[in-house]
Amino acid sequence: MKRFFLLVFIPLVFLSSKGNGQPSCGMEIRQQQALLRNPALAEDRRQLEQLTKAWIAKQALEKTRENVVRLPVVVHVVWRTQEQNISDEQIRSQIAILNRDFRKMNPDAGTTPTPFAALVADVGIEFCLAAKDPAGMATTGITRTKTTVTDIGDKDRWFSTLRGGKDPWNTKKYINIWVCEAGDDLFGFAFLPGTADPPEADGLVISSQYFGSTGTALASRPNHKGRTTTHEMGHYFNLDHLWGPDDSTCDEGDNVADTPPQYEATYECPGFPLRDRCTPGGSGILFFNYMDYTDDECMYMFTLGQKQRMLAALNGPRSNLLGQSNCSLSTSVSSQAEAQAPQIFPNPASGWIRVLTQEGESRPVKLELYDYHGRKLQEKVSHGECNFDVSGCAPGVYWIRLAENGRVYRCILAP
Ligand SMILES: [Zn+2]
Repeated sequence: MKRFFLLVFIPLVFLSSKGNGQPSCGMEIRQQQALLRNPALAEDRRQLEQLTKAWIAKQALEKTRENVVRLPVVVHVVWRTQEQNISDEQIRSQIAILNRDFRKMNPDAGTTPTPFAALVADVGIEFCLAAKDPAGMATTGITRTKTTVTDIGDKDRWFSTLRGGKDPWNTKKYINIWVCEAGDDLFGFAFLPGTADPPEADGLVISSQYFGSTGTALASRPNHKGRTTTHEMGHYFNLDHLWGPDDSTCDEGDNVADTPPQYEATYECPGFPLRDRCTPGGSGILFFNYMDYTDDECMYMFTLGQKQRMLAALNGPRSNLLGQSNCSLSTSVSSQAEAQAPQIFPNPASGWIRVLTQEGESRPVKLELYDYHGRKLQEKVSHGECNFDVSGCAPGVYWIRLAENGRVYRCILAP
């Protein structure tokens, strides 16, 4: 019974049909079955939804200052073939992608169509490979386990060393990501907060060829840019798909206020705007959002509403992840940015302000331009260097702010 329950409740999946337009997720029917078998789960989810809404409402009132948080990740590589034993470099490429995507530092965020550009969120969450294991010993944040079990995700054995997988590290204190054969031709799956059964299954399960953007991921086009994990991390922080728990209806959505109603999943890489029967007019649906099924190259943003929902999860059911101070410095966007001040010139400037950041291509840095009154005028992501066009700005004092640590640097526009 228990095993069957597990099978039917793995709720949130990418099928390999991503890209060929077939109904892909199977989540709806599995979730319905799971709820039928375990009605208490529905009540748990309802209560969490109430808490989520209450937290977001309170947050809107208080407008509390947001700090960037860094959360420890452990990657368990559970491999059967040598090819699945992916390199540390490939793993680190995925952590870098998560950081860019969750900090709005992905270069393609800038391609968001204009009507939605103001919705693109810097979620303010960063990830690092854990620096300490549960015993307090230094670690790379990567474990490697050889297995003989095929399709170990499908067999519900990935989270058990005894059964050929790898036991999790404390799932309350680490985000566990198992890189293994997710099975059933899945790209991966993850659990919404409180839905993993048994609890030690909690985390993300990603097929190795879709993890990161180097090594074996190179052959996985058009899903070769690590967005499967970005999508699944969204689920881990309580985001639903854009079309909600039930596709083929406009009645149920994703409980996010700023995502347009959407009928069903979108595949491949459609042109903008794309309208459907739930949003038949205007700018259409948000198919370039991480919580759709479009190709990796064609999904590039979370919305502000999704951010609020994720932060509600982080301050609610996922709050034990906070305050772990378990990050090695080298994988954090913030700690890198903190170390180095940008060079701004010419200063005084006219027409253009050029900013050199020393992080280079591997560590994008977000910069904001403020006027004397503290109004944000522009923001840019620097991959080593960027230019602010200030040709329309009045002479006077301006500020360049490093988003990562809030430090500001003065610059002057000459008359
Ligand atoms: Zn999904």
